Amino acid sequence: MQRSGWKRLMAVTLGSSMGLMAPTGGALAIESCVASLKQQAISSGVRPEIAERMLKGASFDEKVIRFSTSQPEYKTEIWDYMAFLVDAERIKDGNKNLKKHRNTLSAIEKRYGVNRHVVLAVWGIESDYGQFKGDFYTPHALANLVCAGKRRQKYFRGELIKTLQIASRGDVPVSDFQGSWAGAFGQTQFMPSTYNSLAVDFDGDGRKDLVNSVPDALASTANFLKNAGWRDSRPWGYEVKVPSGYSGPSGLKKRAALSTWGQRGFKKIGGGNLSGKTEAALIRPAGANGPAFLVTRNFNALRSYNASTSYGLAIALLSELVSGGEPFVTPWPTSNPGLSRAQRLELQKLLNKNGFDVGEADGKVGPATRAGIRKAEAKYGMPVTGRPSWNVYNALGGK
Ligand code: CA
Repeated sequence: MQRSGWKRLMAVTLGSSMGLMAPTGGALAIESCVASLKQQAISSGVRPEIAERMLKGASFDEKVIRFSTSQPEYKTEIWDYMAFLVDAERIKDGNKNLKKHRNTLSAIEKRYGVNRHVVLAVWGIESDYGQFKGDFYTPHALANLVCAGKRRQKYFRGELIKTLQIASRGDVPVSDFQGSWAGAFGQTQFMPSTYNSLAVDFDGDGRKDLVNSVPDALASTANFLKNAGWRDSRPWGYEVKVPSGYSGPSGLKKRAALSTWGQRGFKKIGGGNLSGKTEAALIRPAGANGPAFLVTRNFNALRSYNASTSYGLAIALLSELVSGGEPFVTPWPTSNPGLSRAQRLELQKLLNKNGFDVGEADGKVGPATRAGIRKAEAKYGMPVTGRPSWNVYNALGGK
């Protein structure tokens, strides 16, 4: 444990009624905080044996605290983000799951009025269709955020109690709370408070199990999107051609009817006129030289799942591609595009093969891989960025 982490931990504990406790180590400090959380959970109706089991062994986790406080080391370019999240593998797996869960998705679409391809895309991006649920046991991660975190402790305390209540009611098994450092869990990564207001039991077994039941997870996601304003009567938006020299309204807050955008000289990229009263806003996430989109309130519903334009576009694009639609036409404004997951894995193998040791190739680009990339970039006389880019991949022999 790092010294700064230890000091922070002690400060939190000493701030409570245990001011005279001897500083015998971080483990003891978090244990006493966890013990008081356990009592609070029990007073909030959590069965004692459930509180005991879920908080047992909760110890200081430097990684949770680091994730909760640090800014990302690298700003991810939107073309890296999109290449990684919307790759051929995720489209193929999406098509497979579309067939496999056809009946469920059809029933969900009917009940909630949310297009099946959109629900499927959220599932694909959030957990790779249930294959990846997160690296953390969320009760322990949340306990760390409360006991050793620096911000929003009250919020995380509430999320922890709700997590224990969900298990105590028997909705999700105690051992199945795998998720994010922030406490989101299940196949479509719900925070416990979101779970409480919007999760549904769609397979009718009496439990809202967003971890083990695909129908429950997908219906809950549809319910979330419906609640956030998704309506199947309108599209998420369109890729558009911006009239040359355009300097009029832009940005998510400047809405106008599609017909107004048509009058301003905008055209759908795929052909067809912009008409009708549906309101839309112009976004150009990579600036004036990249693709442009007119997005409706459905796009805002996607963004409410994760407040980022890149995220919204990844869901929108994946939903188009799994429904047989076309990719975006305007290229991202870069001569050095991003890599798919398969290419990232291959990049690591190529780095190892060429003597830039990055450890075991697992497709995840972490500090070791970035260091290897920087060495390769330096050797090949390229700008040294540490970015998993097409140019360094290609220089190493990747195709
Ligand atoms: Ca159920």
